[in-house]
Amino acid sequence: MNILVINCGSSSLKFQLINSESEKVLAKGLCERIGIDGRLTYQPEGGEKEQSDKAMPTHTEAIQFVIDALTNSETGVVKSLDEIGAVGHRMVHGGEKFASSVIITDEVKKAVEECNDLAPLHNPANLIGVAACEELMPNTPMVAVFDTAFHQTMPEKAYMYGLPYEYYEKYKVRRYGFHGTSHSFVSKRAAELMGKPYEQVKTIVCHLGNGSSVTAVLNGKSVDTSMGLTPLEGLVMGTRCGDIDPAIMEFIAHKEGLDVDGVMKILNKDSGVYGLSGGLSSDFRDLTDAAVAGDKKAEIALEVFSYRVAKYIGAYVAAMNGVDDIVFTAGIGENDDLVRRQVCSYLEYLGIDFNDEANTDLRGKEATISGPDAKVKVFVIPTNEELAIARETLALI
Ligand code: ADP
Repeated sequence: MNILVINCGSSSLKFQLINSESEKVLAKGLCERIGIDGRLTYQPEGGEKEQSDKAMPTHTEAIQFVIDALTNSETGVVKSLDEIGAVGHRMVHGGEKFASSVIITDEVKKAVEECNDLAPLHNPANLIGVAACEELMPNTPMVAVFDTAFHQTMPEKAYMYGLPYEYYEKYKVRRYGFHGTSHSFVSKRAAELMGKPYEQVKTIVCHLGNGSSVTAVLNGKSVDTSMGLTPLEGLVMGTRCGDIDPAIMEFIAHKEGLDVDGVMKILNKDSGVYGLSGGLSSDFRDLTDAAVAGDKKAEIALEVFSYRVAKYIGAYVAAMNGVDDIVFTAGIGENDDLVRRQVCSYLEYLGIDFNDEANTDLRGKEATISGPDAKVKVFVIPTNEELAIARETLALI
C-alpha cells in the first residue's frame, strides 16, 4: 500500500509518498508560502527535483497540487488517488490524551483541538492539514501520529515540575517531551543492533537537530526526556536556550525593557548556539568552520552544546540505574563528528571505548562508534520520522 505522510505547518507542508511493502519513498516534496503566494517542490524517486510557483491561498490548494503532482501522467508516481491507501499526519501535541497513534475521527480532532493551548503554533496547523486532506480524499483513512505520545510513559516523578500542583490540575502544566516518533524509531533499531529484545534494553537517545532532545528509554518505554511543556526546555539548541535559571527572564526583562513576548522571543529565536556564537549561525557546519578558524565564541558555543548533552546522558544513566547503549541521531547527531567526539569524551567512565576512526566521515550512515570491548555501545542511527509515521499508519489501518 502507498501511504502519504504529511507534516503540516502554518505556511508550509512537507509530504512523502511511501510504499509500505518496500518502505521506499516514491516521491517527496514541500509546499511553501501557503497563504502568501505558494511554491511547490516535488521530486519523484530517481527523478529530478522540480520547483514551481502555484497559487496556494489555503492548505486545500496546496494538497490539491500535491495530489496533481503525484498523479501527473509524466512525472507522477501513481495513476490515481485510489493508489493512495492512507494518510499519516504528524501531530505535534497530543497532551495527556494520546499515548499512541490513532485513526482520525471527529472525536480525535476535537481532542487535538483541546490541546491547541499547549502548542498554539503547531496543533492548529496540523488540524488544517487534516481538514484539507479530508476534503480532497474523503474516503481515505487518516492516522494521527503524535510527537508527544511516546513520552506518555514517563512516571510522575519525571514529568511533574516543582510548581503549585493546582497548575497541573487546572492547566495540565507538566513535562510532555517531543521528537517521540524519532526517539521511538531509533531506539527500536538500536535494540536490533544490540541483538536484544526491545523490552530488555536501557537506551539513551540523543536527537540532535535544529531542535534537540535526549530521552531515556527503559525497556522500550520513555522514562524521561529533556524537553518539557514546550520544546524550549533541556539542551542548548540552534536558537533555543534550553534549561536556564527562570529568574533570568525577569532580570533580562528589566534590563532590556522587554515584556513577556519580547523575552520569549530572545529565548526561542536569539539564544542557543546562535546566541552564544554572537549571532554567527545556528548551523553547526558554520560554527565548526568558524571554530577551526579560531573564532572563540563559536568554539564556546560548540563546547556548551556538547557539555549539556553529556550532562543529560549522565542524568539518564542515573534515572535508569545504568545504560546499555547510547544513540546519536538527526542532523547534528548523524553528521557532526566533532560534536559526537566532544560528547563521548565525557563518557569514558561508562566504558564506551570510543572508536574515533569509526566516528569519522559517516555522512548519515548507520555506524557503531564504540570499540569492540565497549561495556556501553554507542551507535549513530539515521532517524526517519516519515517512515515511522508510515509504519504506524499501516499498523493502525
Ligand atoms: P530539524 O529537523 O530540527 O530542522 P535536522 O535534524 O535536519 O533539524 O538538523 C539540522 C541541523 O543539522 C542543521 O542546523 C545543522 O546544524 C546540522 N547539520 C546538518 N548537516 C550537517 C553536517 N554535515 N555537519 C554538521 N552539522 C550538520
